[in-house]
Amino acid sequence: MALKLLALGLLFLAAFAAAEVESDSEFATSDSSVERASRKKANKSFDFFYFVQQWPGSFCDTSKGCCFPVTGEPGAEFGIHGLWPNRNDGTWPASCTNEEFDESEFKDVLANMNTDWGTLACSSSHNEDFWEHEWSKHGTCSGLSQHDYFQRSIDLYNDYDITGALANAGIVPDDSFYPITKISQAFKDVLGFAPQIECNKDPQGNKQLYQVYICVAKDAKTLIKCPAAISNPCQGNVQFPVFDASSSKNDETATSTGSEEL
Ligand code: AMP
Repeated sequence: MALKLLALGLLFLAAFAAAEVESDSEFATSDSSVERASRKKANKSFDFFYFVQQWPGSFCDTSKGCCFPVTGEPGAEFGIHGLWPNRNDGTWPASCTNEEFDESEFKDVLANMNTDWGTLACSSSHNEDFWEHEWSKHGTCSGLSQHDYFQRSIDLYNDYDITGALANAGIVPDDSFYPITKISQAFKDVLGFAPQIECNKDPQGNKQLYQVYICVAKDAKTLIKCPAAISNPCQGNVQFPVFDASSSKNDETATSTGSEEL
């Protein structure tokens, strides 16, 4: 009987100790995840920029579609999406300060921005809304003034003609398919380094050339070899879709507004 009691006692003690360890480790886990989260929040560091350009034909050729900005139909060339601080480990800081978007700080670049950095979203046809989003999410982490953030983006855009790079290699937006290796080499020929390339899908499921991520040093001027790969780089043969006015939903909107007025 005494032995039985001893065994029971030992069992009870072992169970109690195990529960202690578990609750300790639970506490340790939640504590460190809180710490991790706050460290992450506070970490505004970055290692390089992605300067991201976009083929408008591929933004429009999706089930969501696109709308042209009030400033007019964009040209058939890659346009700017943004200049994004990024880290070598593939993470990035976002929304780093509350500095308000203020167009009066970069009046001298506005004309170029309207031409080269137009919105295609149907939620707003005002370029300013797109720029404000890019400034708040990415620009506030760049360490640059608002003026320099937008100016350097425009300079990068003007210094390297990636639409021309493709044309020089016989790669044109004619709805045909091209090997991504050939597209990448054409970009490398003008940039000196291969960019990262992202594809999206048209409503039929065809893979199409969508965004080009050019890697830039922290001065927002010097191109560098990409230190990190994007999570979904494009591979294989990809379509380079035609881009023209019929790609937008603007006409549909005009038609439906017209019939409502009748
Ligand atoms: P970001 O938030 O800067 O990482 O970019 C992603 C967001 O930008 C998504 O909401 C996209 O729909 C939007 N976006 C991408 N390209 C354009 C464009 N050309 N015009 C307006 N919004 C865009």
